[in-house]
Amino acid sequence: QDHLAGIDRGKLAAFRAAEVAVFAAAHPVSRQALDAGAGAFVNRVPMHWMADWPLPFPLVVDHAKGARLTAVDGVSLDDFCLGDTGSMFGHSPGPVAKAIKAQADKGLTYMLPTQAAMQAGALLSQVFGDFRWQIATTATDANRFALRVARAVTGRDKVLVFNGCYHGTVDDAMVALSGGQTVNRPGLLGQVADLTLHAVACEFNDLAGVEAALAKGDVAAILTEPVMTNSCMVLPDAGFHAGLRDLATRYGAVLIMDETHTISSGFGGFTRVHGLRPDMFVVGKCVAGGLPTAVWGMTPAMEDRYRAADAARASGHSGMGTTLSANPLQFAALVANLSQVMTAAHYARMEKGAARLAKGLGRVITLRALPWHVVRVGARVEFICAAGPLRNGAEAGPAHKPELEAALHIGLLNRGSLIAPFHNMMLISPVTTTAQIDRLVANFDAVTRALTEE
Ligand code: PMP
Repeated sequence: QDHLAGIDRGKLAAFRAAEVAVFAAAHPVSRQALDAGAGAFVNRVPMHWMADWPLPFPLVVDHAKGARLTAVDGVSLDDFCLGDTGSMFGHSPGPVAKAIKAQADKGLTYMLPTQAAMQAGALLSQVFGDFRWQIATTATDANRFALRVARAVTGRDKVLVFNGCYHGTVDDAMVALSGGQTVNRPGLLGQVADLTLHAVACEFNDLAGVEAALAKGDVAAILTEPVMTNSCMVLPDAGFHAGLRDLATRYGAVLIMDETHTISSGFGGFTRVHGLRPDMFVVGKCVAGGLPTAVWGMTPAMEDRYRAADAARASGHSGMGTTLSANPLQFAALVANLSQVMTAAHYARMEKGAARLAKGLGRVITLRALPWHVVRVGARVEFICAAGPLRNGAEAGPAHKPELEAALHIGLLNRGSLIAPFHNMMLISPVTTTAQIDRLVANFDAVTRALTEE
């Protein structure tokens, strides 16, 4: 095949090579900084994902504020990646930065609550619903702990997840469906456990498949995102979530909603916007305005079950919690973010901007007659280099076109628009301007034109 998703492969390779050269020429200071200091790190990056950007070498950042990020080369970019959701409300939102500064001199970690913790608890319930909360540092940890509680209260061992899901580096969820069988996801480094002993994978939007799995009676929890955001973007069918809730109740499984990305949906997340009724609720990334924080909550009924299970266990380490979690800096940032940044008014702005972006990208795709589509979940927009809509992970897998996406990403970056690596995701913050959105659409137009013109 000499075409990939409507793009000539020869043209694609030439475009990518030219854009790599443009990037390298525009970022000599980043390269010098890396040459001077990166050797101290494994594979020259402090966290291995940083080597996964489709760039010849990573950008070295000088600073970021609002929806703008500036590299040490002096090059400024419109940031639509926003830390892959961690900075969805913009970099260093004013109230959050101020709260962190105020706490910075009063101690950074105590293993004890503060007055702000009490405010944070009340705000979490006001924003997300009547849950009893725990604070963690990453959404990965929050999901792991939620799973432990679900297993403890049900006395069952399996977690049901959806093919193509991602819930952080939670080992239990690293399974996939292959030929109708649950298997360990390919590529897991150093994973020696047979994850299928304690997990079962189903397809998203397949209630019959979920029911068949639940009917075996060994599923402690269904762990799901409201929308599959880590496998392109797969929207739930009408009735899917109501069906999941009903099945979870009927078969005695705990329903855990991981809102770490779908917090883009609107005030209170997809759960609140669409009236879902999970037993447990998880959100991380941007919940404290970008300071490493995640929260997980359980309904009051779940809390009763949890406390009973906790009281009934033998003394010793529960196997849950981490030392730095629920520290005073997190409470200060949570209070500032929840009360002044993660507001309904800000969501309204974000949604409006995202709608403008989705429309603009859709217009370009139509103009170029590309077999692609655009999906939006509130402030989150993704273009997908395949026809849609996609209904599940099996369809979403082949819709990814890493080679093509890499060329698009670097082409956009060289023209001033930074989008998320790994997928074609763009976030609109409350401070993203119309001019930035229109520039991204114009850049998408220019890049797709270069890839398609005769
Ligand atoms: N849940 C979902 C839905 C995610 O997409 C991610 C990360 N992309 C996580 C959990 C884990 O977040 P973290 O990497 O901050 O632990």
